[in-house]
Amino acid sequence: CGIFAYLNYHVPRTRREILEVLIKGLRRLEYRGYDSAGVGIDGGNHKEWEKNSKNIHLIKQTGKVKALDEEIHRQQDVDLDVEFDVHLGIAHTRWATHGVPSPVNSHPQRSDKDNEFIVIHNGIITNYKDLKKFLESKGYEFESETDTETIAKLVKYIYDNRESDDITFATLVEQVTQQLEGAFALVLKSVHYPGEAVGSRRGGPLLIGVRSDHKLSTDHIPILYRSSGKDKKSSNTLPRMDEDTCLFPVDEKAVEYYFASDASAVIEHTNRVIFLEDDDIAAVRDGRLSIHRIKRTAGDHPARAIQTLQME
Ligand code: GLU
Repeated sequence: CGIFAYLNYHVPRTRREILEVLIKGLRRLEYRGYDSAGVGIDGGNHKEWEKNSKNIHLIKQTGKVKALDEEIHRQQDVDLDVEFDVHLGIAHTRWATHGVPSPVNSHPQRSDKDNEFIVIHNGIITNYKDLKKFLESKGYEFESETDTETIAKLVKYIYDNRESDDITFATLVEQVTQQLEGAFALVLKSVHYPGEAVGSRRGGPLLIGVRSDHKLSTDHIPILYRSSGKDKKSSNTLPRMDEDTCLFPVDEKAVEYYFASDASAVIEHTNRVIFLEDDDIAAVRDGRLSIHRIKRTAGDHPARAIQTLQME
């Protein structure tokens, strides 16, 4: 019911600070109603953050955000003082639609026991039974009663059957969302794509807050279309992110991104936000945000504005 994610890129933060940002974000979304909550962060207690991102740690709890916070502080195996130069943390408050409120049904939902892909989801996947049946026939085992778990398993299925190791996280999520029916806002995190975030929406709200101490190099983000419709040679994968695809910010290194269901959760960090539209796939990779769509259609605005919210 409430989505909040925080990505710090070359802004050193301890795990304690990251968890505080996530919990605060969830508290701002409490008014939307929920019955359980959870977070997904990098596990591991190494000095070098890259090693920690090979292992994702989930903490989930039924009830209030306060109960989740208490559960976080009960965790024995996560050192709160470890510092991360780059990190993505995702957090969720759940309003159960499929499956009772319980830790296993709380989000993030995961692809497998190793937490290779984790997802937070707001909404309902109406064709989840068919997807689940298909994935079970391929040997994927389900642990929750949620519709959301099919998303986590489907992304792993597509990853496991990838034709090329070059496949981007955005492309994987694009292929997943093409299979989904119903309403959703999603954010995903993966051990295969450390420090990267992908979010998408269809019918559910999702916005991205951006904070940088430097002046932003642009006030809008051009959409990257996978195929123009006219272009017969459209490639199978979304364009790779590189210097000339006009990403944001192009010249600054240190940047923080927030994904949220509602602007009230990001306003204390930044007043610069981008509202995603249905079927946008937003990806942060190497500290840069890009927004992808499959193809351009009539009436489609080929850029998303970076809006400045009025501070209260
Ligand atoms: N349908 C999902 C579930 O029941 C997500 C519900 C929500 O939006 O919180 O787990």
